[in-house]
Amino acid sequence: MMFKARKLPQHLKPSGWLAMLPPRPEAPPLEGEVSADVTIIGGGFAGLAAARRLAQLDPALRIVLLEALAIGEGACGRNSGFIIDLPHEVSSESYGSDSATKARNEITMNRTAIALARGMAEEQGWGREIFDPCGKYAIAMGADGDRHLAEYARQLQGLGEAHKLLNAAGIQAVTGSPAFTSGLFTPGCIMIQPAAYVRAFADALRPTVKLHERTPALSFERQPSGWCITTPKGKVNSGKIILANNGHAESFGFFPGQLLHIFTFASLSAPLDPARLGGQRNWAATPAHPMGTSLRRVQGQEQEGDRILVRSRYTYQPDLEVSDATIASAGRLHDAKFKARFPMLQGLEMQYRWGGAMALTWNAVPAFGEIEPGLFAAIACNGVGATKATASGIAAAEQVLGHKSALTAIFEAMEKPKPLPPQPFTALGVKASLAWRHWRAGAE
Ligand SMILES: Cc1cc2nc3c(=O)[nH]c(=O)nc-3n(C[C@H](O)[C@H](O)[C@H](O)COP(=O)(O)OP(=O)(O)OC[C@H]3O[C@@H](n4cnc5c(N)ncnc54)[C@H](O)[C@@H]3O)c2cc1C
Repeated sequence: MMFKARKLPQHLKPSGWLAMLPPRPEAPPLEGEVSADVTIIGGGFAGLAAARRLAQLDPALRIVLLEALAIGEGACGRNSGFIIDLPHEVSSESYGSDSATKARNEITMNRTAIALARGMAEEQGWGREIFDPCGKYAIAMGADGDRHLAEYARQLQGLGEAHKLLNAAGIQAVTGSPAFTSGLFTPGCIMIQPAAYVRAFADALRPTVKLHERTPALSFERQPSGWCITTPKGKVNSGKIILANNGHAESFGFFPGQLLHIFTFASLSAPLDPARLGGQRNWAATPAHPMGTSLRRVQGQEQEGDRILVRSRYTYQPDLEVSDATIASAGRLHDAKFKARFPMLQGLEMQYRWGGAMALTWNAVPAFGEIEPGLFAAIACNGVGATKATASGIAAAEQVLGHKSALTAIFEAMEKPKPLPPQPFTALGVKASLAWRHWRAGAE
């Protein structure tokens, strides 16, 4: 039985996060034939977490990690950097009869992911420029958002989770902008410089984990004692495989008609003289409405100015690619959002713009578990991958080694992804739904 990649990840324009970092010596591409107990395909949040957890559980295990691009070039180095501990959904619709159990399971999952990341940060002595346990704000622009946040605060109260509601003046004292009508602070979110984080994470795994960058898995074939994975210049004979390549799992023929390939976009400003904007110099905010705009102010090191990140817009990209024109169009939206929030910063240009892929499922569950004997999936993290892909990587590693935990119990009890409607209904439905949700998000 052979699974062959029909498509490989593209070398996209780098994200601002990656462009701002100094060059790093990459791990060498695989050349020749090697053996492994477990091979992980994909060096994003899921793959890195799986490698770390495998090495923790069995230090003698031979682990190979294959990344098609360089670490940090994929979505894991392109995101806004929120590792969120609490359920993101503020809509009361998501709180059904078993809502408290569902929310607590999600919190357990998220905090398990954060504990793994924190353990690595402490062990490696990373500073706040990589891993910042500063919490986050949810921000509202208008009455709808205010209601969402008040309701969300009530839900958090019920769950016994720390939070603080801020009025317009309170959130202005944080952001320096009078545009927001209320805010809600939750302290457990970690903010990362995503490209710096995944690079440092990958480098810390070596040499225990044999990392090969610019080494796409082209195909893998079942053998009597495991799998043989073929790469452009080598082969890995591996007992087991963890597929951690997110939407590209479909390129190998897995989960056909079950993954929604959605892109989102970010712009990062040129350095800003901190004196031009009041408020705090380091904060991060998600929108009250899930389809709204995330914002982040990143304090510059030493004499460098601060930067502002704007993340907004979702598009459906079933071919897993995005054009420059789509990034430019998202950029125009970012400029309008930025102007509405920071009119006092007229003339501040966006220096970097980029997009990146996420894989969603119809019923918002991950594609997880043993999908062929010895082949495990940890993909489709439904947009909150910094946390959920990390959690699914940990759970996949535990499942591979037969290790039982609260996390594996949560993952094993989840529903399987539901099939999407046939094309063209999925494309039409998703586009209409995105348009409707963008409209509902209004100014947010
Ligand atoms: C602009 C933007 C902002 C975002 N903000 C946030 C946020 O703040 N918080 C959050 O939680 N999420 C955020 N996300 C989503 C998050 O980045 C993704 O959910 C997350 O990266 C998914 O992690 P992953 O490990 O599953 O997949 P990825 O990060 O996509 O990693 C998969 C890796 O597999 C590699 N690969 C694919 N095919 C192969 C192959 N054949 N062989 C070898 N390697 C292969 C890819 O190159 C890639 O590096 C954002 C995304 C974007 C684009």
